[in-house]
Amino acid sequence: MSMSCPFCQIRDRTLPAECVYEDEEILGFNDIHPQAPVHLLVIPKRHIPSIEALTETDAGLVGRMIRVAAQLAQERGVSSEGYRLVINCNAWGGQTVFHLHLHLLAGRPMNWPPG
Ligand code: AMP
Ligand code: ZN
Repeated sequence: MSMSCPFCQIRDRTLPAECVYEDEEILGFNDIHPQAPVHLLVIPKRHIPSIEALTETDAGLVGRMIRVAAQLAQERGVSSEGYRLVINCNAWGGQTVFHLHLHLLAGRPMNWPPG
């Protein structure tokens, strides 16, 4: 997967990214086209194409991804104002990179309903 997947390449350090978090199973980095003053992506290091591919054994991993995002929001001082976590799935969901990723968007008010 690492040959064609940009986020596997970021994990393998063959594609540059501004990494903001790393542990054994999770990586966090700045989105290359930020849609808000804070726009980070939190990914599993293992290539999982989308939330559709998740299994019961991934439940802990996804929970830890959310906790990492909340921790990064807190570190950046955007928690009390508020933020949005997003996982897009497939075409109509707006997914363009098929390696699971959680968006952390913060630093401005978010609109609802989303576009
Ligand atoms: P999605 O549309 O939910 O699949 O989100 C993909 C996100 O990945 C978009 O916000 C892109 O700006 C971002 N992205 C794509 N390529 C890179 C990259 N090489 N480094 C950082 N972010 C990227
Ligand atoms: Zn990948």
